[in-house]
Amino acid sequence: MNSNPGPGKTIERGQAGFDEALFDTSFSVDDPGVRPELIVQANDVSDVVAAVERANASDLKVAVVSGGHSWAQNHIRDGGMLIDLSRLNEIQIDAECKTAVVGPAARSGDIDALLAKQKLFFPVAHAYTVGMGGFLLQGGFGWNSRMMGLACQNVTAADVVLADGSLVHASESENADIFWAVRGSGPGFFGIVVRFYLKLHDRPKFTGIKLQVFQLKHLEDVLRWADEVGPTVSPRVEFQMVINRKPLGFFSHGIEVLCPVLADSRKEAKDAVSFIDKSPVRRKASLTLPVIPVSLTSVMRGAEKVVFVEGARWHTDNMWLKSPIDPVLPKLRAMAESQPAPPAHALWMNWNPISRDRPDMAFSLEAQSYLALYGAIKGETINPADETWATDHLRAMEHHGLGSQLGDENLARRATNFLKPDNLARLTSLTAKYDPNGRFYSFGHLK
Ligand SMILES: Cc1cc2nc3c(=O)[nH]c(=O)nc-3n(C[C@H](O)[C@H](O)[C@H](O)COP(=O)(O)OP(=O)(O)OC[C@H]3O[C@@H](n4cnc5c(N)ncnc54)[C@H](O)[C@@H]3O)c2cc1C
Repeated sequence: MNSNPGPGKTIERGQAGFDEALFDTSFSVDDPGVRPELIVQANDVSDVVAAVERANASDLKVAVVSGGHSWAQNHIRDGGMLIDLSRLNEIQIDAECKTAVVGPAARSGDIDALLAKQKLFFPVAHAYTVGMGGFLLQGGFGWNSRMMGLACQNVTAADVVLADGSLVHASESENADIFWAVRGSGPGFFGIVVRFYLKLHDRPKFTGIKLQVFQLKHLEDVLRWADEVGPTVSPRVEFQMVINRKPLGFFSHGIEVLCPVLADSRKEAKDAVSFIDKSPVRRKASLTLPVIPVSLTSVMRGAEKVVFVEGARWHTDNMWLKSPIDPVLPKLRAMAESQPAPPAHALWMNWNPISRDRPDMAFSLEAQSYLALYGAIKGETINPADETWATDHLRAMEHHGLGSQLGDENLARRATNFLKPDNLARLTSLTAKYDPNGRFYSFGHLK
């Protein structure tokens, strides 16, 4: 992906450079086989307004891309106009007021690196290049979100271009219904966010990671333990497990237990992850390391070198998992045994946030733990089963879940619940009010 784009312009289908401009917007290199009619590369907010007015005049549907990390490439549609916001990547920090204003294409890692210099913090996404547009709209499981809430809970306002071309400010006190939708409607949002206003926090003083590795034969024991202990794990710890065919790059098929911990001292971090050293499965581990101090920048960059690598065709899907986990264990084993080669992997995440006392916002579905399957294909060889591994296995275990999360959505291939029914009904009626002619593409499409 182009992280330093040049001046903006309009490129029509068939023109030289059209495909390059299109795929430059997308983290996944999959070619869905469809193309918009034209791409508008906006340089600023007035370009976005002008593009929407042009779409209205020409009766073109509009898709939007910010950081381009939608696994499903939700912005690549058949026909219409694609508005590429990747140049709207401003980051302004007011350290004294602990606030920031960011453009929709500001990248998680860039925001975090600037905040680190001022000992400030925002729950950005876990990989460096994820854009704020899609991340904040869908809710956002950010760093330290078990403590600080979803990233969107830390959004205080947004500037939005609506379907009629008007530019409005939305917050709890102004255009409150638009603000309600900004926080959780994800790719179903009925406008274009051109600026987010963020609330910042003090930066945790210590960041570390605790690692453990198990062979796949211990899958059931490890998952049972994780599901049981999850609710008691400190919210400072992001307790996750990655199942893949090559843990840490050299073990054979197994489970990486990854526990990033953000605390105010090394001692506090060690205490927070001590449940790993006391666990009933600890003696089965092939490797257990002490807490290693790390910078978030290195973890975010590392995630994109090792796990979420560029240059792959990603086919992802996800599910909020019901507890207890026992009934779904046979399905989880079948999923693990058929998983494609790395970088494909499965992620189990202990969610259990410090509080589920959420503000009234579109985001509304969550559970104790989370399962995401990241199917990835590198190179030319295509095994059709690898392409559908994520959706096939999640479909098979659907009745053990509570619906899905919009960040890792694949609604085009597997339709699921992603908001509570009342919230979906409210979003549908707001869409009818603010985008009566269906100018903006909404949730997923079949490729
Ligand atoms: C490597 C990687 C790591 C990830 N890590 C995390 C993580 O830690 N936590 C997490 O919660 N999620 C994570 N995700 C999922 C990610 O948050 C979503 O894919 C999100 O949509 C990405 O935002 P984006 O702006 O980069 O994507 P885009 O593809 O640009 O946006 C996705 C969709 O959102 C809509 N949209 C985007 N911008 C706007 C806008 N300005 N106005 C209106 N609609 C808009 C469009 O429908 C667009 O198709 C990760 C994804 C990847 C690829």
